[in-house]
Amino acid sequence: MTYDAIAIGAGLSGCSAAIQLAKRGYRVLLLEQSHYPIHKLCGEFLSIEVTEAFENLGILAQVHKVGAHPIHRAYLTTAGGASFRSDLPSTALGLSRYQLDLMLFQRAQELNVDCQDNTKVVSVVGNLQEGFIVNTSKGDFTGRLVLGAFGKRSPLDRALNREFIQKKSPWVAYKGHFTGVDIDDVIELHSFPNGYCGLSQIETGEINVCWIAHERVMKEATYKDLGVPESLAKNPVLADRFHNMKRVSTSLQGLSQITFALKENFHNDICMIGDTAGMIAPLCGDGMAMALRSAEIVVPFVSQFLDNQLSAIAFKQEYVNAWRKEFQTRLQLGRMIHNCFVQPPLADMGVNLCQMFPNLGNWIIGATRGKPNN
Ligand SMILES: Cc1cc2nc3c(=O)[nH]c(=O)nc-3n(C[C@H](O)[C@H](O)[C@H](O)COP(=O)(O)OP(=O)(O)OC[C@H]3O[C@@H](n4cnc5c(N)ncnc54)[C@H](O)[C@@H]3O)c2cc1C
Repeated sequence: MTYDAIAIGAGLSGCSAAIQLAKRGYRVLLLEQSHYPIHKLCGEFLSIEVTEAFENLGILAQVHKVGAHPIHRAYLTTAGGASFRSDLPSTALGLSRYQLDLMLFQRAQELNVDCQDNTKVVSVVGNLQEGFIVNTSKGDFTGRLVLGAFGKRSPLDRALNREFIQKKSPWVAYKGHFTGVDIDDVIELHSFPNGYCGLSQIETGEINVCWIAHERVMKEATYKDLGVPESLAKNPVLADRFHNMKRVSTSLQGLSQITFALKENFHNDICMIGDTAGMIAPLCGDGMAMALRSAEIVVPFVSQFLDNQLSAIAFKQEYVNAWRKEFQTRLQLGRMIHNCFVQPPLADMGVNLCQMFPNLGNWIIGATRGKPNN
């Protein structure tokens, strides 16, 4: 059977696109390399913009039922001792990817998406005129259109010979769940030389600890029981947190070569969404909302293409224009803030400025994210 659309990757963007297309009556295949449920690398901080998307996808009630933790305030610190506290413009949520991705995957199943986890895509050939063959660890599938939703970095990027994968990136990231500190309804963001670390509570009451750093940090000594590089403790607040924390996760999730480089929206006619099209710096805490939003943007164009109301060329142009309009400036601003926050003198200056001019901090929070209900 030939599917109308095949989505590669069942993270936020892949599940969201699959659900929306299934609701419109298309035959959709969703392929995921992992076996769900699974812990994933992420700060697990959901900004307010996701609420409407969750409602539309039909999982909002379940998100609240599993006890997503409300977050109302932010606390930023630097290794030099600068700090800034602020109320968030609206309530954010702490929810593990273990729960969230499973919820989305099951919702897609309910809507008759053909959901296949444990299925790794190895290569894709074809084009929008003739259709595609997707080669996986479980055999070949054919579809009229392919959505690339395989995240920040995948062996598939190399198989497809994408441009960004040719360049090395020094950024590595890790996450794990911990107990021992009570940070209540605060998202904490602590800068240290060459990186930063976020702490926020999730639905289990545990604290998600997620940090991104230059790879040189990983060559330094590690707290044995926590698995965290000691150089993170050059930030005194973070040092105090680690002193009191215990690791709950048996292992940490990690990823190297994280890039914020611009990527293409189409590669060999495969339509890229979520991080596969471009990733915002993690300190903006908005990657998941953007992944969901990119699926919302692409679905109407996909639908028009499948119904022969848009040519392949027009489909590509319309999506690229809409994507750039919505995300390009935010991605650039996110990169700039990331580069400042990993350099102690700039991080001190930035956080001190936010302390002096609280409206600046609020402006930055607003400028790096979309508007709810847009
Ligand atoms: C350190 C760090 C912290 C972050 N913290 C936050 C945060 O607190 N809040 C926030 O909103 N965002 C955060 N983000 C960003 C957020 O995690 C991503 O933007 C979001 O997960 C993107 O969703 P996605 O659907 O594009 O990709 P993903 O959620 O990564 O999903 C991609 C899926 O594709 C699958 N896949 C990959 N290759 C293949 C293949 N060949 N075949 C089949 N399946 C495949 C993967 O297994 C995965 O399930 C953070 C990112 C980083 C790096």
